[in-house]
Amino acid sequence: KNDVKNAQRAAHKAANIGLCQDTRATTEQVLDPRTRLILFKLLQRNAFAKLEGCLSTGKEANVYYALSGDGLRDIEATKDIPTNAPLAVKVYKTSILVFRDRRRYVDGEHRFEKGYTSGKNPRKMVQLWAEKELRNYKRLHAHGVRAPRPLLLKGHVLVMEFVGSQGWPAPRLHDASLSPDEMEDAYVQTCVALRAMFSRCKLVHGDFSEYNLLWFENEIVVIDVSQSVEWDHPRATEFLRKDCANVRDFFSRKCERVLSVKALYDFVMRDGVAD
Ligand code: ADP
Ligand code: MN
Repeated sequence: KNDVKNAQRAAHKAANIGLCQDTRATTEQVLDPRTRLILFKLLQRNAFAKLEGCLSTGKEANVYYALSGDGLRDIEATKDIPTNAPLAVKVYKTSILVFRDRRRYVDGEHRFEKGYTSGKNPRKMVQLWAEKELRNYKRLHAHGVRAPRPLLLKGHVLVMEFVGSQGWPAPRLHDASLSPDEMEDAYVQTCVALRAMFSRCKLVHGDFSEYNLLWFENEIVVIDVSQSVEWDHPRATEFLRKDCANVRDFFSRKCERVLSVKALYDFVMRDGVAD
């Protein structure tokens, strides 16, 4: 098939510009041909001027660092993005194992029922997953919860604003070294972010923890919202309780006084969902 040929050709070019090298992890990350084709097309359209270094290789996704090209200015939603702006490019994995794991978040999501029932196809599924993260990020953004601004989605590749400076990503809360005062501040911001996500965005994060919060310019930045569900999802309560427990576990080791899991849960839920 022509598609595959193109992908292979693109793969060779991609290999030549260093797409396949993970600069931080010891394992070599090999991108599948379709992913390379998408990245190659984005490069061709000048969405990125450069795609370099790997920021993270996870179970579910790899995240790359890139610099914007002038192609983003041709798109209405991103026409304000200057050339050479730092970007984070999240590439979701299509493996069947990851796919099975995601079901519990997608089942019961009314936003995705149509798309989901039509596909047990992993490629469709992973695209849906990427789309879900895009929409959730948009919602956070729209309601003033600090998170990377999502810019562009192509298949299972999500391009977003890079959180960090001079090519260095902001540390995860887990890795950041904060003074006791900063930690208190981070704690309050974290509780407020969790509440705002629920009451304003009507979302439950579902994996809210020190691993998915970045500390940047003295602010908490929420990331990794692909699994986040609507507040009325059948398992929303269970996920929210877990999110509260994660906050409590982390900060109880860092701060002198923190809310109990129940008190935090009540704080998040108080007054229900606001408009
Ligand atoms: P995963 O599903 O692999 O956990 P995440 O969305 O949490 O995916 O991203 C993995 C890591 O990549 C994060 O812990 C963070 O270090 C980095 N990262 C993700 N998005 C950004 C971003 N917009 N800016 C800077 N770093 C990011
Ligand atoms: Mn994560």
